Amino acid sequence: MTHTVSGTPPPHAAPGAAPLDLAAENQALRARMAYLLEQAERNHSIMGRHQAFDLEIVGASTFPELVGTIFRTLPIISELDSVTLSLIDDGEDIRTVMLKLGVVFEEFPDLIFVDDIDELGFDLGRRNAYSPQPKPLMGMFDAQRHARPFPRPPAGLQSVALVPLLRNKRIIGSLNLGSVDPTRFTPSLGTDFIEHMASIIAICLENVISNEMLKYIGLTDSLTGVYNRRYIDRRLLEEIGRARRQRYPIAVMYLDIDHFKRVNDTVGHQGGDEVLREVAQRIKAELRGSDALARFGGEEFVVLLIDADLDSAAFVAERIRASVAGALISVTQVTQVSITLSIGVACLAAEGDGESEGDAEPIARTLIAHADEALYQAKETGRNRVISYRA
Ligand code: GH3
Ligand code: MG
Ligand code: MG
Repeated sequence: MTHTVSGTPPPHAAPGAAPLDLAAENQALRARMAYLLEQAERNHSIMGRHQAFDLEIVGASTFPELVGTIFRTLPIISELDSVTLSLIDDGEDIRTVMLKLGVVFEEFPDLIFVDDIDELGFDLGRRNAYSPQPKPLMGMFDAQRHARPFPRPPAGLQSVALVPLLRNKRIIGSLNLGSVDPTRFTPSLGTDFIEHMASIIAICLENVISNEMLKYIGLTDSLTGVYNRRYIDRRLLEEIGRARRQRYPIAVMYLDIDHFKRVNDTVGHQGGDEVLREVAQRIKAELRGSDALARFGGEEFVVLLIDADLDSAAFVAERIRASVAGALISVTQVTQVSITLSIGVACLAAEGDGESEGDAEPIARTLIAHADEALYQAKETGRNRVISYRA
């Protein structure tokens, strides 16, 4: 590769210089040129790596994918010894939803949730999230002062940068960078580059968080917090496919609160809502993590039990029935009501023959219909009981 540098006076043009000096000067210039080229190439390669990083995080569609990429890739491309992320999660909304969606926070020990903006450690002047705009804080690492953003500081951590993550002038958290090089982050260093990087990360974070929230809302019953009918319909098809392929039984429970109209008549619609929430909790308390509970509509619930035959599902159903009937439910802190429910149970036996998933829909319909038929019998024969469907 040849490089020409215009505007630089040729080194041999210095008037009256001795040939020896010229040679030395020439050598110095060559060394300087090599150094600049090396710097340029290094910057170019850092830029390239950062562009690839930007593309990767912009492409992340889930929260774990995004934070996983940040923690995995950023230390390498930016040659950092520590990268952590603090997120403001007032009321634990983010954590609650992510947990429900199956995010395992233990996999991200460098993800820190704080309840309040003050816990991030920025100088906010007047106590207002909107003004003034906080700047990155850069300087020497102080184990005590930085205990929050660096809960597991690597040995020899020397300098750190706490970079605010801003969305529409609102602080959503901070990106915390650490280096064993004491000169890496100093208060006098320019912050354009890391602020730019933090702004991209902030956009991506806000995007995936709101996507995950939407996903959660679309699958959840807002009154009780358990899954909704849309979720259980879809999950049932998936589970039928899997159960057929792997040859294990699955069972469905159809639960309906007895005489719920009377409950509403006695304690009002809002009281009825409280009963629905408590019943959902009591059902859930009897289930395994692999089982799925949904409010199917009104005062009806459906439970899907993975790898459960008719008898074991009926056993769980009986436990649920006893738990709901066994203790009064408090309503509006003054009244208590006695609630019972009726449960129909049906099972899809483990005789899978490897058939395709395309057949799952009629199987799902039949399974639910059988549970519903058993529920009808439970109602007909006196309520507050469990009936298993037998063909
Ligand atoms: P049965 O023992 O035969 O099941 O009697 P039931 O009164 O429970 O039966 P039905 O299905 O006729 O009535 C269900 C009632 O549930 C009617 C409706 O007003 C009430 N309901 C439906 N959705 C809600 C809700 O979201 N909140 C409250 N509070 N009530 C609801
Ligand atoms: Mg009903
Ligand atoms: Mg009912």
